[in-house]
Amino acid sequence: MIPGARLVLLGRQGAGKGTQCVRLSRHYVVPHISTGDILRAAVREGTEFGKKAKAIMDAGDLVPDDIMVGIVDERLDRDDTRSRGFILDGFPRTVAQARALVEITQPRGIDLVLNLEVPREVVLARLASRRVCLDCGANYSTERPPRYGATCDVCGGDVIQREDDTVEAINRRLDLYEAETAPLIAWFDERGLLVEVDGAGDPDAVFDRLVEVIDGIRGRG
Ligand code: AMP
Repeated sequence: MIPGARLVLLGRQGAGKGTQCVRLSRHYVVPHISTGDILRAAVREGTEFGKKAKAIMDAGDLVPDDIMVGIVDERLDRDDTRSRGFILDGFPRTVAQARALVEITQPRGIDLVLNLEVPREVVLARLASRRVCLDCGANYSTERPPRYGATCDVCGGDVIQREDDTVEAINRRLDLYEAETAPLIAWFDERGLLVEVDGAGDPDAVFDRLVEVIDGIRGRG
């Protein structure tokens, strides 16, 4: 079995992180950990926490750092991540979360942070047509729908439009990204962990670019 990987994917909402993480997870046999998917699962379960998270998410705001760090800390402690590593999608989103992640992942740390770069104008159009699988997080769009109606090609789950993919919430999330998340790019770069990958164009081409970068790093390790 090939060795696992410990990766973080950064990029604006709609840059294709979800799509690429699902594919990378299958390719490297490494768990895909999407904090957005974890929160949406809590919302569906209807717990007290889920209700609070839903209000924050629907407004396009960020869930407090201490809660997010607790969720990720617990998830990274399970057997699958201990043995295979992780592909983090949607975390960290603030410098405080990034600092906590570096702590949590000691002593091995993170192998690589990939920044999927797609301009704001492009992601705005993508988000408006985005559809996602409620169960596995696979991404579709109105132009690339699932093969059979609203049933996921990957797992058979329900494919829906997210409630936070409204124009207002999208703009709020993109503003927050520039304010809170974009500084992470510089933060990881200063630590020698960052590689920028062009996220424009065909998803197959973007996937090939990502694999080339990741394999390059693994070859060195
Ligand atoms: P995503 O699916 O990654 O776009 O996440 C959907 C929503 O979940 C975000 O707009 C936030 O409200 C919340 N969320 C997900 N990950 C985080 C995080 N790391 N920190 C704070 N809020 C988060």
